[in-house]
Amino acid sequence: PAAEIGVIGLGVMGANLALNISDHGYEVAVYNRTVAKTRAFMAEAGALSEKIIACDTLEALVDAIRPPRPIILMIKAGDPVDQQIAALQPLLDRDDLLIDAGNANFRDTIRRFKALEDSGPTFLGMGVSGGEEGARHGPSIMVGGKRDSWQRIEDVLTAISAKYEGEPCAAWVGEDGAGHFVKTIHNGIEYADMQMIAEIYGIMRDGMQMEPAAMAGVFAAWNDGPLDSYLIEITADILQTQDDESGKPMVDMIVDAAGQKGTGRWSAIESLRIAAPAPAIEAAVGARSLSAMIDLRTKAEAVLGVPGQGEFDLGATTLDLLEKALLAGKVAAYAQGFSVMAAASKEYGWHLPLPVIARIWRAGCIIRSRFLDDIASAFTATPDVDNLLLTPEFAQIVTDTDRALRAVLAEAIRKGQPVPALASAVAYFDQLRRSRGTANLIQAQRDYFGAHGFVRTDAEGEAHGPWHSEE
Ligand code: NDP
Repeated sequence: PAAEIGVIGLGVMGANLALNISDHGYEVAVYNRTVAKTRAFMAEAGALSEKIIACDTLEALVDAIRPPRPIILMIKAGDPVDQQIAALQPLLDRDDLLIDAGNANFRDTIRRFKALEDSGPTFLGMGVSGGEEGARHGPSIMVGGKRDSWQRIEDVLTAISAKYEGEPCAAWVGEDGAGHFVKTIHNGIEYADMQMIAEIYGIMRDGMQMEPAAMAGVFAAWNDGPLDSYLIEITADILQTQDDESGKPMVDMIVDAAGQKGTGRWSAIESLRIAAPAPAIEAAVGARSLSAMIDLRTKAEAVLGVPGQGEFDLGATTLDLLEKALLAGKVAAYAQGFSVMAAASKEYGWHLPLPVIARIWRAGCIIRSRFLDDIASAFTATPDVDNLLLTPEFAQIVTDTDRALRAVLAEAIRKGQPVPALASAVAYFDQLRRSRGTANLIQAQRDYFGAHGFVRTDAEGEAHGPWHSEE
């Protein structure tokens, strides 16, 4: 057999991944459930089709790959993956390597990894980010499973991955579900980052009456500063794009109801489950859900009205303050995402390498940015730090942006601008930096109504209050 690797699933992602692999000189065998899609794919592959073997059956695919066979599954996540594994299992050898590259829930990946551990084929769960463009020209790749399985396909995966200043954005991050977990948190951070950008856009649009083209200029300028990132870059591009049909700014012609496929929500759920708070991610997931309730929002606007109308104005430096506030919010969101990974790492025994994760997110993926290079440096310089905010570099950013974040939030709240994710950032900072918070009262309440006990400030062990002494 000629092929070095196989790809199952020629949808948007699989087709581009297969082209990317063949473009790097690897012979690749491909299969898609609907054969017509395979034909169409080959017809469009052009010269690359010489390095691609199209297979109409799973048997033909397996026969076309040199054993031990690495096969990438790039199909719809969920039941289809279990069905595909079941169909492949009788055809594959123990040493063959099945790599699920879809957006699997990491719990499913753990389950599949364990189910195949003894019988084979060997299983890897691989998170891929970067959308269609990334899949074709270099995605960010987060791999979970046995380290020696990763080493078997390390060459091809690093070859097809994005590069940040020459360094490949592909890495093994831990056992079983670690790769898909890291991808999930990537998407959670992506939600928070996008939501905060949208909140700033809302202030510019509704509070400052800026036209999209003017906003585009501001975002483009910000893309040369500390906010430099793919998401800021595409925001600038989106805002200056005209709708061909109406001649109006494209962004003004789009219904304000955000879709979501679940990975952002999974990261919020997981953060709650392991008690590693990620309020910015939660706020972003909640904001998307509320955005979809257009009927309810329309009714609420009629009943309650829009509060605090009037110009959002912080003087001549308003735009600079917005830039700093967005940076502050971003720091909170990323600190939270990384702290969820640190907690999950302990819980699942993954030893997630946080600096490596920051490094493979610097290019290829949706949250790619220079900022992630700073995070990688901070985690490398201060390993085992409890939270990104405690590294000297990020503590400095929090200090430098603090006044701007507060000024922007105070004005936004006064003017009735919804800023759920940005507001969660200041609440997170303020709660985190108080060594004595207010949970003493919570503990008193819990003890009062449920005899749950508390720890005294002047003694060890469980104590109770004299709440009901006179009864
Ligand atoms: P598409 O909808 O373009 O393609 C879906 C693919 O899954 C098709 O090849 C389809 O085959 C196959 N499929 C669906 N159900 C089954 C089944 N029961 N058995 C066998 N094959 C099946 O999806 P994408 O390429 O966008 O996504 C693929 C995976 O990658 C998903 O898990 C997605 O979440 C993930 N992903 C997507 C990203 C994106 O930007 N689009 C980014 C990162 C990950 P058929 O042609 O026969 O229907």
